[in-house]
Amino acid sequence: AQQFLWPIIRLGDVVDDYERAKAAGSRVQGILSREPAVGDRPDARPLEVDEGAVTYDGVRFAYSDETVLTDVDVDVAGGTTVGVVGPTGAGKSTLLKLLPRLYDVDEGVVRIDGQDVRDVTLRSLRRSIGYVSQEPFLFYGTVRENVRYGTFDASDEAVERAARRAQAHEFIRNLPRGYDTPVGERGVKLSGGQRQRLALARTMLKDPAILVLDEATSAVDTETEALIQDRLAEFAADRTTFVIAHRLSTVRTADRVLVLDDGRVVEDGTHEGLLKRDGLYANFWRVQTGDIASLPREFLERALR
Ligand code: ADP
Repeated sequence: AQQFLWPIIRLGDVVDDYERAKAAGSRVQGILSREPAVGDRPDARPLEVDEGAVTYDGVRFAYSDETVLTDVDVDVAGGTTVGVVGPTGAGKSTLLKLLPRLYDVDEGVVRIDGQDVRDVTLRSLRRSIGYVSQEPFLFYGTVRENVRYGTFDASDEAVERAARRAQAHEFIRNLPRGYDTPVGERGVKLSGGQRQRLALARTMLKDPAILVLDEATSAVDTETEALIQDRLAEFAADRTTFVIAHRLSTVRTADRVLVLDDGRVVEDGTHEGLLKRDGLYANFWRVQTGDIASLPREFLERALR
């Protein structure tokens, strides 16, 4: 039942949908069921990021007939770390896919530092947003090319610096051809933790103003995971960060937690504040801390439906 109450989901399909789409071309087919009809407006200007404030204003979104996000009003100050939690299917990843315009809203506006994301160039927008998934996308190419992906003008030194920060340098050095070792389908097989560290290095090199983390638990050993989480926390500290969290322990320290349920933001506050409120978040917390006995009957009934 625990699994059902707080199902662990894999969001490998949102890793870097836009990067994936560009890098892998045909492989993207079947990943997006609704082909995003996004592009630059003729008068699109580059996004100018100042503080990295993010606003969702009256947002409604549907992939098809069924509305997935309804009346989403969220104002996030620059530099804030926001945990996003809720049951599977609540709309967490969809909410964050609207930011780099993997999809456009049906109603309302998403703004970064006051600029409607539809008014800026896709290139500048996506340059400003880093998406780190626990199931990162690597393409066929060398380690260096994989780290450099998206920041093509970076020097070898910068690539190496990013790899060091991501705790990837050591294992890369030990590969048969170091940074020039091919990875991916026809290259060396990297472990889950190694892949994550490469992806992290890529994001650190990109140095985005806004960070979106999907910390879906993967097959990485706990030691590596803790290491990665530490690095990420450090990296997230001075930028606007959204964390889709599956373990509530991660959002405990967030500045703010959004609780999504059925496409709506139903709770919004700090970990402590939400516990006091004794709503959905508090019940999820009870589940994760093993305090099942004190769960309200309605919650259990709903979870077991
Ligand atoms: P969460 O991240 O909270 O698990 P999602 O944002 O992934 O939720 O999904 C919200 C709803 O939208 C779910 O009902 C899901 O089935 C649906 N959905 C997600 N992605 C797509 C898609 N590409 N096409 C159609 N429906 C989708």
